[in-house]
Amino acid sequence: MRVHLINPSHLAFGVGVITPRWLYVLAAATPRNFGDPVITDETLEVLDPECIDRGDIVGIGIHTGNALRGYEVGRIARERGAWVVFGGIHATLYPEEPHTLGGAHAVVKGDGDVAWGAAVNDCAVGAPRTVYEGGKVDADSFVPARWDLIPQNKYMWASVQTVRGCPKHCSFCSVWRTDGQKPRQRGADAVIAEIVELRRLGFRFIALADDNFYTVTLTDIKMAGRRADPTQRQYLEGLRAERFELMEKLAKLPSDMIFFTQITMEAAEDPAFLAAMKAARIKGALVGVEAVTPEGLKDVYKDFNYAGETLVERLRAFKSAGVHVLGSFIFGLPSDRPHTFEATSAIASRAGVTFAQFVMLTPFPGTVDFAAWEKTMESDTTRIGGVPLTRHWLIPQALRPKVYTPHPVMEADEIRRRTQAVWDDFYSFRKIWERSNCVKSLKARLAFVLISKLYRQMYANTGIATDSARVNRSARWARMIAAPCRRLFAAPPMPDLQIPA
Ligand code: SF4
Repeated sequence: MRVHLINPSHLAFGVGVITPRWLYVLAAATPRNFGDPVITDETLEVLDPECIDRGDIVGIGIHTGNALRGYEVGRIARERGAWVVFGGIHATLYPEEPHTLGGAHAVVKGDGDVAWGAAVNDCAVGAPRTVYEGGKVDADSFVPARWDLIPQNKYMWASVQTVRGCPKHCSFCSVWRTDGQKPRQRGADAVIAEIVELRRLGFRFIALADDNFYTVTLTDIKMAGRRADPTQRQYLEGLRAERFELMEKLAKLPSDMIFFTQITMEAAEDPAFLAAMKAARIKGALVGVEAVTPEGLKDVYKDFNYAGETLVERLRAFKSAGVHVLGSFIFGLPSDRPHTFEATSAIASRAGVTFAQFVMLTPFPGTVDFAAWEKTMESDTTRIGGVPLTRHWLIPQALRPKVYTPHPVMEADEIRRRTQAVWDDFYSFRKIWERSNCVKSLKARLAFVLISKLYRQMYANTGIATDSARVNRSARWARMIAAPCRRLFAAPPMPDLQIPA
């Protein structure tokens, strides 16, 4: 009897950008008496069903985007006589769906760090429970990943988590509901131990795979300071101090290491935090800009962000502190107008963001937007491939609409076309070459071009294109350039590296 962990994907690129961390965390959470789990990441290669035998235990992690492929994999595993257990954000939100569509014997809701082991033990004696409540485990119980199981030469970036949860409440995001609004920060030593292990293996680029690295803002502390009771202020200051402690320790790691994280724009108002990020070599951050107008920010409950010229200044502050921004923008907001697309593109360029992604507003389960949209769709009888629109993740990929929410002034196809045009413009050779001046040597600039093109092929065309020929072409391109890109990120292993004193 073997344990399998499968990350489903309908597109395989041969090489992955960031390691799907959950595979290696659940490998560590698998009781040791079952041996090393067999790990399959379908973003690298498609699952070979022959490797699953009767009586094996198969864990499948799904988010809304890969749920449909996950259910296919679940049915395949069940037909082969395996015990099938689902987990992940989507299974947490819809625990009945893997049972009806994915051949599940069990679903783990919430964090798998502890509950996964119980599910494996129960499957082994033929008595799995229908649902395991994993809940939100304390940071002290986060399981460090089994990086000894990672395949060689397959990923560009490794991923380490330093915190789960986000105190914000953006309307399009489910993180604050599934991971909670109370940040659960891991101790700095546990994080550093994992990073050292990864550097020993030859990873020098590490994604800090957090919901929001900037867990406490200066405004939060100021507001707490107005209360008569100092408890909240002390708690927030404690969280902030832990962030600084972690960054001080990151700064002591080998000088060729580079980190990337996800952060809110408020960090740009905190020079001490930006300086600590720079010292820690956190050289890149995904910043959710979402909209460039005050109306757009209101649409997504993100009024802690800035618009217009102040937005440009805030984003530039990251760059001045040596932190490259991957700006994330949303199109299709009710307040968007045809000119919003060009205005967004212009601001992205003026603000000096190094990479950008432009996504179309999609109501994802677990979000405020989804709940409101689902209500408005109660009397809608539209079916695509027999599936109602409010279950869009179950519609076959090729038939899936690109825009779901009716827009007050633009047709769905207009939003899609204009979004595609913004990607085309931002990732044109001329603009990429201009942006590549953020690195010095010609070799580094060429590498920048290659990586920009890869990013675009992996994330733009595959998500926005309507015809399958274009999707396939993009995937082929991405496969071709992924392998040389990976080599740009590799470093010689440092097997003797010690944890800094
Ligand atoms: S979008 Fe970012 S800031 Fe907003 S709730 Fe989600 S994780 Fe937090």
